[in-house]
Amino acid sequence: MITGKNYIGNRLSGNGTKTYKTFNPSLHIENENEFIEASTEEINEAVFLASDAYIGYNQKSGKEKAAFLTAIADGILALGDILIQTYCSESGLPEGRAKGERGRTIGQLKAFAALLEEGSWVDATIDTAIPDRAPAPKPDLRKMSVPLGPVVVFGASNFPLAFSTAGGDTAAALAAGCPVIVKSHPMHAGTGELVASAIIKAAEATEMPNGVFSNLNSSGIEVGVQLVKHPQVKAVGFTGSIRGGRALFDLAAQRDEPIPVFAEMGSINPVIILPEALENRNFELAQTYAGSITVGSGQFCTNPGLLLGIKSAALSSFVTLLSEEIVKIEPSCMLHPNIIEAYEKNKQTAINQPGLVVAAEYGAEVSVNHARQAVVTVEGKTFLENTKLHHEVFGPFSMIVQCENAAQLQEIITNLEGQLTGTIISDNNEIAKYLNVIAALQNRVGRIIFNGVPTGVEVCPSMQHGGPYPASTDSRFTAVGVQSIKRWVRPFSFQDWPDQLLPNELKNANPLRILRFVNGNQNSDSI
Ligand code: NAP
Repeated sequence: MITGKNYIGNRLSGNGTKTYKTFNPSLHIENENEFIEASTEEINEAVFLASDAYIGYNQKSGKEKAAFLTAIADGILALGDILIQTYCSESGLPEGRAKGERGRTIGQLKAFAALLEEGSWVDATIDTAIPDRAPAPKPDLRKMSVPLGPVVVFGASNFPLAFSTAGGDTAAALAAGCPVIVKSHPMHAGTGELVASAIIKAAEATEMPNGVFSNLNSSGIEVGVQLVKHPQVKAVGFTGSIRGGRALFDLAAQRDEPIPVFAEMGSINPVIILPEALENRNFELAQTYAGSITVGSGQFCTNPGLLLGIKSAALSSFVTLLSEEIVKIEPSCMLHPNIIEAYEKNKQTAINQPGLVVAAEYGAEVSVNHARQAVVTVEGKTFLENTKLHHEVFGPFSMIVQCENAAQLQEIITNLEGQLTGTIISDNNEIAKYLNVIAALQNRVGRIIFNGVPTGVEVCPSMQHGGPYPASTDSRFTAVGVQSIKRWVRPFSFQDWPDQLLPNELKNANPLRILRFVNGNQNSDSI
């Protein structure tokens, strides 16, 4: 049942005075439940509880934390249809997508549970003492990863489950040993509360300390700002717009004690279509990209917002074919009236830029809150000179840049902002003639794709989801896959520490049988 209240640790609380409702974009009506924004007292209580919980939670074994994460996954599934219905009513996304995203969310939690069960993720590194080393004895040093402390998580509007309350950031931070306070996304507060209830039940069932998780409602930016400024908060995870991520990053940097903000933000995901591929597969590519641009109403951070080709008859015909294909696709509902309003405004701002030509825009009647997909073209020189054209238009929109030659293509890639992904469409060995372009692209992105589409992010350890700024605030880390746990830990060394007082991961006997680097060799032996 949705109460509209906040979870302050294990307790439901609604002391605030500001209330709001979520919105059903498909029906264009407000949803029934009223949510109470967290008050300053509730925010402080949640953070102090998290700070207290950290002391017990960071001592929990990998197996105990794995049991907690598994119980969360099971609890989310046990919520059943109400979760799927609430998700759909708060996002306008179809049931199939809701179920798929639930599966992904559960899969992520279970992947972290498996990582914890195995245990080697802590990067245990041991250099044993050499007491008789001359001229000075060498001490015994043992290093491993330890959790940072309470983490605040901001989810995005476009992934109510997988990048929200129990999404990747929360799963990774809890796995690392950090208590989590979620700043619930106002567009899907009901989905958030249901998932939060599953997390709290799991925490109680597995005897995790009260405060290991809190879920705070908010209808504007104030709750998030207070959380990021709070001295007991030690790190922030954010998924959303560049504007929001950058504001929180700056806020965290201005604190007396600056803290890391791992913000995963928007991207235009350049796709380079090389001439031979364009010549040979014009129609197939047009169909594939019409689908990729419009899937989920274009509301993906990996949406292909920029297609680049070298001027030719084949490129002109690709523009025509893509234009024909994209308007055949039935428009779909966007997440919220605010999102479609921003889409229409940003699309229009782009279209109004000098030199832009609208190649296609869905023209027939659309249902309420359904987006009209569009494709525009621009000359390479114009694109280079006008950086307003380099920004994400969040929605089913893509820009085709018609370059004069390979040199201009390379110059454009070099001048792009950081991106989550870059894609090369190439036939045979054509790619070998463009190695400089590929090198330039590799320098701008976190993941490079050959002959595919950027949409669809596989969740597995080798996935890199993050890229040079502004794709993310720290390109050294991924937001997807179990390695995202590295964002919430710091390395810590014990020097000459008594064996019985060391964590199990570093003890001579290696009771967990994890893989460790011992005097330069990786093994799971005891010492
Ligand atoms: P958003 O408007 O930036 O909102 C995200 C969250 O941040 C919301 O809870 C919002 O709170 C909060 N927020 C925004 N600005 C803030 C500020 N100045 N101070 C404090 N809090 C602030 O983004 P969205 O519309 O939800 O999500 C769409 C964006 O996410 C797109 O750009 C998409 O590309 C990106 N995205 C990126 C990834 C990735 O992994 N890189 C994944 C999914 C989506 P309020 O709503 O209460 O203001």
